[in-house]
Amino acid sequence: MTELACYAVCVANSRGRAIAEPPAAERSEFQRDRDRIIHSTAFRRLEYKTQVFVNHEGDLFRTRLTHSIEVAQIARGIARALRLNEDLVEAIALAHDLGHTPFGHAGQDALNACMRNYGGFEHNLQSLRTVDLLEGRYAAFDGLNLCFETREGILKHCSPERARELGELGLRFLEDRRPSLEAQICNLADEIAYNNHDVDDGLRSGLITLEQLDQVDTFARHVLEVRNEHPAIAGRRLIHETVRRMINAQVLDLINETRHRIAAAAPSSLEAVHTAPPLVAFSQGMHAQQRSLKVFLRDQLYRHYQVLRMTNKARRIVSDLFGAFMAEPALLPPQYQQMALAGQSAEIFQHAAKARAVADYIAGMTDRYAIREHRRLFAVGEI
Ligand code: MG
Repeated sequence: MTELACYAVCVANSRGRAIAEPPAAERSEFQRDRDRIIHSTAFRRLEYKTQVFVNHEGDLFRTRLTHSIEVAQIARGIARALRLNEDLVEAIALAHDLGHTPFGHAGQDALNACMRNYGGFEHNLQSLRTVDLLEGRYAAFDGLNLCFETREGILKHCSPERARELGELGLRFLEDRRPSLEAQICNLADEIAYNNHDVDDGLRSGLITLEQLDQVDTFARHVLEVRNEHPAIAGRRLIHETVRRMINAQVLDLINETRHRIAAAAPSSLEAVHTAPPLVAFSQGMHAQQRSLKVFLRDQLYRHYQVLRMTNKARRIVSDLFGAFMAEPALLPPQYQQMALAGQSAEIFQHAAKARAVADYIAGMTDRYAIREHRRLFAVGEI
């Protein structure tokens, strides 16, 4: 294995775990974090959570699980090329969506609206809450006790108010410091993954067409190139060949631009990365192309009436569940009832604790579990 760059995160400059543990035999601390994430309950649930299309809509669409695996694959490739910590990048990428509610962004928006008076709901913070608190797998502590740098990478953004509650981990949002390059990579690998797989899934679903995508400069250029090289190509193979080239172009652009920025800033340590401007980035040209692709997907796919019908239903399911559990916490499974009862000394805390326990329960649900739970609570004749 090539040696890590002097500004990479490594076990020697890691801030370690909140609860100290003896080192693992034969694994780095970040491999160990990745292993803990893969074995978590929240990770397995990603298989049945919506990315754009609800899980039961088709077997071949991305789910949060396959999305997370694609992010990890892209991020690892970039990290290796830049001599950054591949194990850390993999751990962050696999954990980055653990806090997502069922039904994707519609679910999160609905839950956030329900939680308006109780501190809100944000999937990014919920991912951190999942690994810090909600996973119950260890005898000695709640959560997975991950390394600081893995947790830092999971927490992409955060309001100043929340940052103050998070102590050391929240400091960078208050002091305007950057996270590690490994965390910065995961952020953009996430974008590369979803922009491209949403094009692929959108075409597969028939909600967007090749003709429409010809308006998007980056797609039009690559599809033309493929057609010129392979005049007989058509159907799914044409789409795969085009999307593959788009991903490759974006990854190579990111690596190149980041190399330039690193060369210019010349960070000599991990600490220098924290005080430098963001160093992992697309070139200006690629950034503009990515933007127009995003705008296209927003207008033509995410706001397609068939997608909106599903997200509308999803929103209703989430708010119905929230309302039912808030009105009658005795309907919650016992461990969530216990959490709901915590902090009952003051009336306001009692409501906040109850709401947070309900939000934790709902956020942990898979799409189909939420649909079934809704039926169990609201359909007469269901048990
Ligand atoms: Mg993601």
